[in-house]
Amino acid sequence: MTRSIAIVGAGQSGLQTGIGLLQKGYQVTMISNRTGEQIRQGRVMSSQCMFDQALQTERDLGLNFWEQDCPPVEGIGMTVPDPERPGTKLIDWAAPLDRPAQSVDQRLKMPVWMDEFERLGGELVIRDAGIDDLEELAVSHDLVLVAAGKGDIVRLFERDEQRSRFDKPQRALALTYVQGMRPHKDFSRVAFNLIPGVGEYFVFPALTLNGPCEIMVFEGIPGGPMDCWHEVSTPEQHLAKSLELLRTYAPWEAERCENVQLTDDNGILAGRFPPTVRKPVATLPSGRHVLGIADALVVNDPITGQGSNNGAKCSRIYLESILARGDEAFDEAWMQATFETYWRYASEVVSWTNSLLLPPPEHILELLGAAQHSPELASMLANGFDNPPDYMPWWLDAKACRHLIDEQLKEGA
Ligand SMILES: Cc1cc2nc3c(=O)[nH]c(=O)nc-3n(C[C@H](O)[C@H](O)[C@H](O)COP(=O)(O)OP(=O)(O)OC[C@H]3O[C@@H](n4cnc5c(N)ncnc54)[C@H](O)[C@@H]3O)c2cc1C
Repeated sequence: MTRSIAIVGAGQSGLQTGIGLLQKGYQVTMISNRTGEQIRQGRVMSSQCMFDQALQTERDLGLNFWEQDCPPVEGIGMTVPDPERPGTKLIDWAAPLDRPAQSVDQRLKMPVWMDEFERLGGELVIRDAGIDDLEELAVSHDLVLVAAGKGDIVRLFERDEQRSRFDKPQRALALTYVQGMRPHKDFSRVAFNLIPGVGEYFVFPALTLNGPCEIMVFEGIPGGPMDCWHEVSTPEQHLAKSLELLRTYAPWEAERCENVQLTDDNGILAGRFPPTVRKPVATLPSGRHVLGIADALVVNDPITGQGSNNGAKCSRIYLESILARGDEAFDEAWMQATFETYWRYASEVVSWTNSLLLPPPEHILELLGAAQHSPELASMLANGFDNPPDYMPWWLDAKACRHLIDEQLKEGA
């Protein structure tokens, strides 16, 4: 008998999972609170830079529709300005990625994936799903997945106190999508700037509605000078504020921006949210269970650009777990076990990401500094973005980190 799955939320994880299930002959209903056209006409939602392993999960489902058109992100750059000497750099290196990353504006991607979902026979329902909808879906379908990202409905899943390190937003976030930025000479990159006491700025090439662009991401420490987006109310002011911040804190980045303009009036975003881990299974008033997926359960600060990557990898794990279940019931124990398989990976991404939200310990500053003198170390740091568990244990363990630095510097000498 054909098994039926309901998915609430048409984002990275919901659509990827829904399409994967349709391709395997499952019956899938998806509830989205926006039509494809509304998503396309709306605000940017993310900077969505995805690294190779996550991109591979899309390629495996034939969903890499923009691979040829999207400018590649070929490396990672790291700059720490010198707090003692404004306008100069304390740390500065860049290393190529073994395989390129890519960022396709979700406004471009999701509407096309929604069409693909329907083309494959999926039922797409446009509605803001509430508890009553979940109850109905839980009766009519074998399994309900809540893929609603940061939507209100995910509060149904209890916050996991032990796994959530923070209860408040750790950064004031802003996005500015622009065109006309001067490219890097040798290879394109996510250019990270870690600005002590202020926050972070990173920028990289992407594909948006009207072609290639660059996405600026601002991560301001709350209450600091980069926590300033309440001061702006128009797209023009948002761009002007972005450029003012760069002139003040990363003038080498401002120099690349002499001729930039916004991609469109919706190419801006400002907001904040607390990084949170939730318990994977919610019990509806009827006693039926629903399972969360991706950001609905594990929402990270974007500082390490991992959310879409996590969403894609989580989707693959859930897909495999659903297929492996065959005709057996998707009971609470199966739901819990499916999430724990994902958590074994995601917990390390969360630890790494959370560590970057706190003032860096001495060994991390030493590591970032040593990478200037060791292309091998720089390469390890750059390529870890594709699979953050590769940073463990040395990222969090000062002794192991210093050992790694010594070994790499010795080898390079
Ligand atoms: C500023 C910023 C920058 C980022 N940069 C990066 C980056 O560079 N790299 C990266 O990998 N990740 C990045 N992310 C994170 C990434 O965008 C998310 O982690 C990813 O989109 C999560 O996928 P998801 O499927 O869990 O949820 P989403 O993609 O958020 O999809 C959820 C969907 O559910 C819908 N929905 C919500 N509630 C309901 C409801 N009640 N009924 C019906 N539909 C509902 C929403 O409208 C949305 O369409 C960034 C995020 C932000 C905020």
